[in-house]
Amino acid sequence: MHQPLSYLAPAGIGPWGVFLQQIDRVEPYLGELAFWLETLKRPKRILIVDVPIHLDNGGVAHFEGYRVHHNLSRGPGKGGVRFHQDVSLSEVMALAGWMTVKNAAIGVPYGGAKGGVRVDPRQLSMGELERVTRRYTSEINMLIGPDKDIPAPDVNTNEQIMAWMMDTYSINQGRTATGVVTGKPLSLGGSLGRKDATGRGVFVAGVAAAEKLGVPVAGARVCIQGFGNVGNAAARCFHNAAARIIAIQDVSGTLHNPAGIDVPALCEWLRLGKALADFKNAELIAAEEFWGIESEFLIPAALEGQITGNNAGRIRTRIILEGANGPTLPEADDILGGNGVLVVPDVLANAGGVTVSYFEWVQDFSSFFWSEEEINRRLDKIMTDAFAAIWAKAQEKKVSMRTAAFILACTRVLEARQVRGLYP
Ligand code: NAD
Repeated sequence: MHQPLSYLAPAGIGPWGVFLQQIDRVEPYLGELAFWLETLKRPKRILIVDVPIHLDNGGVAHFEGYRVHHNLSRGPGKGGVRFHQDVSLSEVMALAGWMTVKNAAIGVPYGGAKGGVRVDPRQLSMGELERVTRRYTSEINMLIGPDKDIPAPDVNTNEQIMAWMMDTYSINQGRTATGVVTGKPLSLGGSLGRKDATGRGVFVAGVAAAEKLGVPVAGARVCIQGFGNVGNAAARCFHNAAARIIAIQDVSGTLHNPAGIDVPALCEWLRLGKALADFKNAELIAAEEFWGIESEFLIPAALEGQITGNNAGRIRTRIILEGANGPTLPEADDILGGNGVLVVPDVLANAGGVTVSYFEWVQDFSSFFWSEEEINRRLDKIMTDAFAAIWAKAQEKKVSMRTAAFILACTRVLEARQVRGLYP
């Protein structure tokens, strides 16, 4: 007998509803562990905080902040912090749930957590952004710590924000605690290779998928939605492997060039503070056209819920690499599967970020830092091993790679749950 969660009404709607549907699809494959499945259908704890700050104009603004611990059965919480005007409790709960699954799927010793502030950082000055970050960090201080819950960057958060979070936590603790966040600058115990790790992992998963389908990467056509931390690094990896990046979409617009967009030139363009939509040598097309462009690889690397029952049928690609978390809705998964599109799910495809975050955390604890070569070698091995295990499970059970990843991950989490037992 399980009581429904009262704090999300109606519970089935939004990203959390998507996560619940994905969990439901795993149940038939869990055997006796299905007895514990309800554990994953409710977060362990949720903290909602008020984040008030002084504005530069003398006023005061309040923002809504969250930190969610979805499941800590296998280790401390791990998951990013998102600053975005549309952040909601449902979204942060789902993102925390996906972190539980991702960490277990690739075998790093963490539970799942996530945080966010409902704020549009583009509307803030640098000083206001720092005050939001520091106040939010102070408000969630009771939940985070190097052995409790370790935040990292996500949408609209970066190395600088991690540095402020680390500094605020350290001041509150009265000691320097570098291991409280990952994705920090190198000067604060950050790791070589972390910045590009998620995009690099997307590429490694893409190469593994392409091998299975017999698709050559050199010369392959690649479409990317989102050109931030993840999309940008993935684009550079594919570009370096002689693939052609033929379409890129971000909030400013959608670029298309069948001959291939000059990725290094575009990166330099953006570094100078210019908008992607103003980049020359590519045609600016309508946003909706993006989904119908024929390609070998399609990489959603922006936000969740982008591939829906409405546009999935128009997608003409061989392999979808989910750089973003939760970009594909369950009904779209079914359509893509029916059309023979291989979806490499977020919990595998974008796991490179948390993998190198794990390396960063280990390096901080041991105060011994590895070379970039060592980090990339270990990252590539974890990604290819995880891909192979999930691919094999998908073949064995005749399910999608997403369901296969969830089977492996939920089994690991629920085994931990079972053997730990319930207290009292
Ligand atoms: P980011 O803030 O660096 O970049 C986000 C990009 O998405 C920007 O280019 C933005 O213009 C674009 N975008 C936002 N809304 C869009 C829309 N409606 N249509 C088209 N483009 C849009 O964020 P990021 O860190 O690259 O994260 C992107 C995704 O990858 C998120 O889903 C995040 O959860 C996931 N992810 C990030 C990491 C990481 O290490 N940063 C790790 C794993 C997963």
